[in-house]
Amino acid sequence: MAAISSLGDLRGRRVLVRSDLNVPLDGALPFPGITDDGRIRAAVPTISALAAAGARVVVVAHLGRPKGAPDPAYSLAPVAERLSELLGAPVAFASDTVGPSASATVAGLVDGDVAVLENVRFNPGETSKDDAERGAFAAELASLADAFVSDGFGVVHRKQASVYDVALLLPHAMGSLVEAEISVLRRLTEAPERPYVVVLGGSKVSDKLAVIDNLLEKADTLVIGGGMVFTFLAAQGHGVGSSLLESDQIPVCAEYLKRAEASGVRILLPSDVVVAPAFAADSPATVVAAGAIPNDQMGLDIGPESAAAFGAAIREARTVFWNGPMGVFEFPAFAEGTRVVAQALTEVDGLSVVGGGDSAAAVRQLGFADSAFGHISTGGGASLEYLEGKTLPGIDVLKD
Ligand code: ADP
Ligand code: MG
Repeated sequence: MAAISSLGDLRGRRVLVRSDLNVPLDGALPFPGITDDGRIRAAVPTISALAAAGARVVVVAHLGRPKGAPDPAYSLAPVAERLSELLGAPVAFASDTVGPSASATVAGLVDGDVAVLENVRFNPGETSKDDAERGAFAAELASLADAFVSDGFGVVHRKQASVYDVALLLPHAMGSLVEAEISVLRRLTEAPERPYVVVLGGSKVSDKLAVIDNLLEKADTLVIGGGMVFTFLAAQGHGVGSSLLESDQIPVCAEYLKRAEASGVRILLPSDVVVAPAFAADSPATVVAAGAIPNDQMGLDIGPESAAAFGAAIREARTVFWNGPMGVFEFPAFAEGTRVVAQALTEVDGLSVVGGGDSAAAVRQLGFADSAFGHISTGGGASLEYLEGKTLPGIDVLKD
């Protein structure tokens, strides 16, 4: 697949770059603060390489989930400011995506300049399920540029105008972030060094159950924590109190447990759980056996015995992929399981990969350096879909 160099001489050419700048914000209006700028940092190498090559760089990105109309709470303005600091260069900001401000901003660029367009999801065409509506919006985006570079790894699993349709309209290439992400995922799927351990947690239970299906054929051990664990405990016949539970998925989990046993894949579930009466930072925490969660309590972290067992399994691995925190790490009382697992990943003699927005934020919040891991993926959904063996539309479209 073509790298940026395939686009030829970029001097004087307007290059539209799809980046993933979807960072967490603290919500303080009118000037929301960025709580983790990891994704902006990850977008910098491609943007600065294009600028250094003399391109007029036009960055298109989304922030949050606005409902297809402008919403100041989701403005990319603070992100453009942070990008400018990280680039060490001015960044022009267009107050619309394909309107008069965007046209004027792009027309004002000279070679090596960078502009950011306002949140692409302020336009209903971006995420429309209707091919014609999406295509029409993509044509407006394409009219702002002479070439397209796809570098927003976090969105390549989405068939959206700025990810997919625009690539059909312009000469295109893959940015270095997407290239790096895909090459790591290829190492995980093609010939992972064994033992290969996959650690899953977090709260998007049904999204993540699909990946288990595929991993049951690939991984040696599946370690399961976080909110998804309770559906498995329920499948084993345990009560889970008021913990996160997807009851319609209980039979699916039961089937996975059976298949794992038949195929010799080890599924490691917690033996103990940290429970509390309410979902709150100051809710009094106690440790109980995984099979003895009181009716009026909810599991908010894996227990210490489980964390030690999970850590040991991870340290023995040669390849580890981890997606999803082990507990509600945002509350210090329920962050210990995630910390122990993160620590174990840093001690792996081999490839360790952290994927997922909250997982990446968790390891940074807990004080781990990015460099302590083999790779921190900027895309949770995209990396899971790749591991599931699904085609990623935003990658597929770059093939020709
Ligand atoms: P990622 O973004 O890394 O893919 P998810 O979005 O699936 O991860 O899940 C992250 C969230 O899961 C965190 O906000 C965390 O608080 C939550 N979580 C983890 N364990 C539990 C639990 N036992 N109960 C409820 N929420 C949980
Ligand atoms: Mg998340």
